[in-house]
Amino acid sequence: MNSQPIVKVQQVVKTYQLGETEVKALRGLNLTLFKGEFTALIGASGSGKSTLLNLIGCLDEPDQGVVEIEGHDISKMSEQEKSHLRNRRVGFIFQSFNLIPVLSIFENIELPLIVQHELSAEERKRRVEQAIQDVGLEKFRDYFPNKLSGGQRQRVAIARALVTEPALILADEPTANLDSDTAHKIIDLLKEINQRRHVTFFFCTHDEKLMGRVGRVVRISDGQIETE
Ligand code: ADP
Ligand code: MG
Repeated sequence: MNSQPIVKVQQVVKTYQLGETEVKALRGLNLTLFKGEFTALIGASGSGKSTLLNLIGCLDEPDQGVVEIEGHDISKMSEQEKSHLRNRRVGFIFQSFNLIPVLSIFENIELPLIVQHELSAEERKRRVEQAIQDVGLEKFRDYFPNKLSGGQRQRVAIARALVTEPALILADEPTANLDSDTAHKIIDLLKEINQRRHVTFFFCTHDEKLMGRVGRVVRISDGQIETE
């Protein structure tokens, strides 16, 4: 069933220049993700997790190698095509939630749709309310982020990632700022959304305790994937 690749990373090298020193973040990394998968990328701090997620999300470019999303080589895309991909096909969730404090929960979730400039106010409202329902925050739609707990804030960020109906959601340490009970609930929620909405998930973590809850686990060490 899960035979169609959605992400293909081939022989990717990424080096950062830090003053005089070169930091080799990814060293010829290979990885394929399949449609509908729920995959965790686990590795120590500094192993290259964020670098890999940023390349897959078109937030950065590799020095060498190929990154393909839905069969398209991102190095051959125009800026406009990459921006389309970031705004429509891929959703992002971050460790620190990145909510906008002066916007209500409803408005935070609506923001990516406003940026798209495509849907009517009525259709936006329908999508936002569906996403709010998907993460169980109906009672909090008119609250501001500072009234919410960490777990609730991450639920808002999940709804904001979902609202554009992306094919792939990338999450960079989505549970790192949460206690372990809340972290487990967030991973279970992502998994439920993965199954219900058929969105492919790829999230990274350094927390081994989450591994029991995940379908596929990929390990990264020194910028390379270890054998699965
Ligand atoms: P992780 O997310 O697994 O902690 P990163 O992908 O952030 O790892 O980093 C991989 C390596 O690249 C680390 O050694 C880190 O210090 C280095 N690195 C990441 N981003 C930069 C940057 N912008 N400039 C210089 N070095 C960086
Ligand atoms: Mg990181």
